[in-house]
Amino acid sequence: MYDYHSHSDFSDDCTTPLRDMVRTAVTAGIRELAVTDHYDPDYPDRNFPFELDFSAYHRGLEEVEREFSDRIRIVKGIEIGIQHGDTNQKCRETAAAYPYDFIIGSFHCTGGQDLYTEYFKTRSDEAGVAEFYEYVYKGIRDFQNFDVLGHINVIDRYVKQIPDYKPYMETIEAILKELISLGKGIEINTSSFRYGMNGRTTPSSDILTLYKDLGGEIITYGSDAHRESHLGYMYKEAMEILQHHGFRYLATFRERKCTPILIR
Ligand SMILES: [Zn+2]
Ligand SMILES: [Zn+2]
Repeated sequence: MYDYHSHSDFSDDCTTPLRDMVRTAVTAGIRELAVTDHYDPDYPDRNFPFELDFSAYHRGLEEVEREFSDRIRIVKGIEIGIQHGDTNQKCRETAAAYPYDFIIGSFHCTGGQDLYTEYFKTRSDEAGVAEFYEYVYKGIRDFQNFDVLGHINVIDRYVKQIPDYKPYMETIEAILKELISLGKGIEINTSSFRYGMNGRTTPSSDILTLYKDLGGEIITYGSDAHRESHLGYMYKEAMEILQHHGFRYLATFRERKCTPILIR
């Protein structure tokens, strides 16, 4: 298994120490684990600032990399929260400040509001979803120092009812084309199964089909584990979904370079 999205207690929403996560990943049979703790500059919820103690984090990554080097490959990563404007300058500085192996660029906010608590208080599902994808499109044209776009349809977690996606597919196509032209990818993120999105996956089948049709090839698997039991979550099912959509390779990264691994 190649789990390219996981958290530890360096993230504000996770309490499991990094070493415990890595130890469990070894036991679970994970060959490569990307540790991708949150850095979400200007995140609006003060209870979860999603700041990162960078020097401690980097030291932690290097320690587990050394300690477990004969049992698992630690992919030194980070999940950076993209927004617009000045926030993205902080993202740029962070991405360039350390030799990460792998960077996930994710959207957890739109227009300064966090998707989790605030965003849908003032919007219909339809308007909120439309605005979200427009925001993502502009965001990835502004900040580009990442390797895969995290949980592309994360917005589906927060709506009351997932709307018909037809009106949004044009913007999603523009997002996917931009990613492909930049040599970046997407991820299949199995947290969707834990959120119970009515059987809808992340990405949804529509988005996976479109990505494939557009020539997209780079796709990582991520459990988005925030606790040990989530490591490698639904890996087999995720591989089946990818194969079903015609993907033959899973992307892995080292020093920001992609190596495809045959799915079997
Ligand atoms: Zn995320
Ligand atoms: Zn995450």
